Amino acid sequence: MELTDDIKKITIKKVRKLSKLAESLYDVRVRPKIHFSVESAGVKPSVAGLARQINNVQEVFFNKYYLANFTERFLYRTVTHEMTHLIIYRLQDKGIISDNIDPHGDDFRRIMESLGSTDTSAKNNYDITVVPGYRRYICTHCKKMYSVRDHQHRKFLANPFWVKCECNSQLIEAE
Ligand SMILES: [Zn+2]
Ligand SMILES: [Zn+2]
Repeated sequence: MELTDDIKKITIKKVRKLSKLAESLYDVRVRPKIHFSVESAGVKPSVAGLARQINNVQEVFFNKYYLANFTERFLYRTVTHEMTHLIIYRLQDKGIISDNIDPHGDDFRRIMESLGSTDTSAKNNYDITVVPGYRRYICTHCKKMYSVRDHQHRKFLANPFWVKCECNSQLIEAE
């Protein structure tokens, strides 16, 4: 599914709502520039989102494939997650939060929950196959899942044992 203008609008609205909440709860200004692409931030296309502050300017980058395909979860989880990072950057600038905290530790959880989301795990579990160039492989024995990029997939086609599971069994492409 493609990212529609409607979904973009809903996402911007959600960011604005969280900006206001951040101002009232923490007295910080969090009004990021929003990008609907993570590759423009120079990260892997499988990354769900990214929050960045350079010279006081804040930006968020959202993975348009996950956003388009898993909109509700993405708004609840990833948008709030990245906004939490931006609030923490501001609180660190003010000296309210230490610079040396675990980025997804207690402060992170507390602030993200105050924004209304309890899905505070750092690891997302979106289906990676909605991102072009990615496939899912599964272990034939222990069923552990792996994400495989197209160039790796070609190596598997040439040699099914090119890389094995950590349990030493064969990986095959998942349905
Ligand atoms: Zn994070
Ligand atoms: Zn295995």
